[in-house]
Parts: sequence; structure tokens; C-alpha cells
Amino acid sequence: MDSKQQRIKIAVQKSGRLTDHSLDLLERCGLKFTKSKDQLFCFGENMPVDLLLVRDDDIPALVSDDICDLGIVGLNVVQEKRLLLERNGGQALFDKVFELDFGHCRLALAAPEDAAYNGTSSLQNARIATSFTAILGDYLERNAIVAEIVYFSGAVEIAPKLGRADFICDLVSSGATLSANQLREVGTVFESEAVVIQTRAPLSDLKKDWVTRILQRLDGVLQVRESKYIMLHAPRAALAEITRLLPGSEHPTVIPLEGQPDKVAVHAVCREYVFWETLENLKNAGASSLLVLPVEKMLA
Ligand code: ATP
Ligand code: ZN
Repeated sequence: MDSKQQRIKIAVQKSGRLTDHSLDLLERCGLKFTKSKDQLFCFGENMPVDLLLVRDDDIPALVSDDICDLGIVGLNVVQEKRLLLERNGGQALFDKVFELDFGHCRLALAAPEDAAYNGTSSLQNARIATSFTAILGDYLERNAIVAEIVYFSGAVEIAPKLGRADFICDLVSSGATLSANQLREVGTVFESEAVVIQTRAPLSDLKKDWVTRILQRLDGVLQVRESKYIMLHAPRAALAEITRLLPGSEHPTVIPLEGQPDKVAVHAVCREYVFWETLENLKNAGASSLLVLPVEKMLA
């Protein structure tokens, strides 16, 4: 195997809602690459890891076909591809290995504002426009609804105005696009966020090592996002209460304080957001000299 085949390839959306977050995440994992969005290929300068910048719809197939080892893509696209492959007697040869907590959205059913909607029974024999025919088909089947699915590759929200559909099923995050098109959300078909998928094809030992390291670093990056390092002084007598008040922290470090036998210093990594109220509660419980610091990196 030549050295080119030993390099990890990660498929990332070339230009869209997931691009900046995905590249930012990989940079935080320590990957340095020439960041040129008009290139299809980004060469990793400091690790044997290259990026393939492609349309998001192509990412599951690139990973399933072992052209890329990993991919960052919306779970909606992953699920659509999985269902389409299964429907054609095939199998998706990739696994979801991480949820990334960005790109949150839902595949929602929406009706024109002036149309009556009385629950899913209103969908019986209706026409529903969507780009996600497999996910919608699966949802209708599970809910025993017979409806006509009208495929739209984009601008699904104009389908009712064009007289092409009675309802739509489209990706929504804030719902602003629906309101702008006089549509109202009436149900959720699928919840999504960006995920990492990995090929099921066997990796060489060298590649396996790097994939493990990348996933470990990703885990570290995700863990530190909300995490803070808290330092405070506490009366020994209040230690149990103060430990209880520290958000998302299991084992704080307790350090004796020189010349102050009744007091200790407490250091803890808090894995949940630290609110002002939390600090005020800690102070009320007897804590003093409170410091909250950002966490840069973490390796479990
Ligand atoms: P491409 O050119 O790569 O095919 P696209 O137009 O299909 O791009 P985007 O609109 O960039 O894709 O969306 C990419 C992903 O972002 C979606 O598949 C979904 O997982 C996620 N996403 C998050 N919020 C939204 C939203 N409000 N609308 C659409 N997608 C969203
Ligand atoms: Zn797309």
C-alpha cells in the first residue's frame, strides 16, 4: 500500500450550512490544512488526513463506498441514504460514530396557514411535497397513512402555492422560512443534527490509529465546549454542600490551604454551563475567591 492510501480521507460539505462548523471542529482537533473552499481536496499539512469537499448529499455514499473513511453530514441525509439503499435491497456500509451538537434541525410537516389540519388523519390521500422521499415514506408507513409523495429537489415551500401539493415536509430550524411562505408547522417527522459517520470497510493498522486519535480528539473538543474549570476556597464544614452545587462535576480536587486548617481549595471541571446563580449559590454556601476559567483541551 503506498503512502497516499495510508492517508485518512474525511468528506465535508463544500459550501453550505455545515461547512464552517465542520472545518472549525477539525481545526480544533489539531488538523491544519490549506483552507480553500473552491478546491475539492484539502491536503492536511500536519497529519496524514485530507479533506474532500463535496455536496452533502454525496457524503454517505463516499463513506459507504470506502472512498472516504469518515464524513461529517446531517443525520437527515444519512437516514435518507440508508433508507434508499435498504429499499433497493442494499445496505449502508457506514456507521454513525458521533453526534456533533450543531446543524440542529427537524424534518417538519407544514400546512398552508389557511388550511384545516386535524392531526395525521388530514394527511390521508393528500399530496405532500418533499426532498426526503424515503424518510417521509417511512414515516407515513409507520403511521398507516396513504398519501402521494411529490418529489421537489429544492424550494419545497412553494409547492402548495404552485398547486403541486397540499402539505410539505421540509427541514426547519427556526421556522422563519415557513412563516415567510404562509405555512405553519403541524408535526415533526425526523430530528436531525450533524454527525460523524465511519466506513465499515476494514482500516489498515496505521489508519485505525489515526481514526482513533481523531475520534478521541473530537470527543475532547465536544466535551470542553460547555466545560469550565472552577477554583474556589471553601470551609471544610461546607465541602459536601459546595461539591453538590458544582454543576456536572463528579470528583473535585480538594487541596489543603497553608495556615488555614478549617479551609480548603476546591478545583473542579464543570461539564455544564456555569450560571451566575450557581456562583451566587456557592458563595452563599460559604465559598470565596471564586474563579471560573475556560477549558482549552481535555483528554480523558
Ligand atoms: P449542498 O449544496 O451541499 O447539497 P444543501 O443545500 O443540500 O447543500 P444546506 O442547506 O447547506 O444543504 O444544509 C445542509 C444540512 O444542514 C442539512 O442537510 C441539515 O442537516 C442541516 N440544517 C440545519 N438547519 C437547517 C435548515 N434550517 N434548513 C436546512 N438544513 C438545515
Ligand atoms: Zn444537499
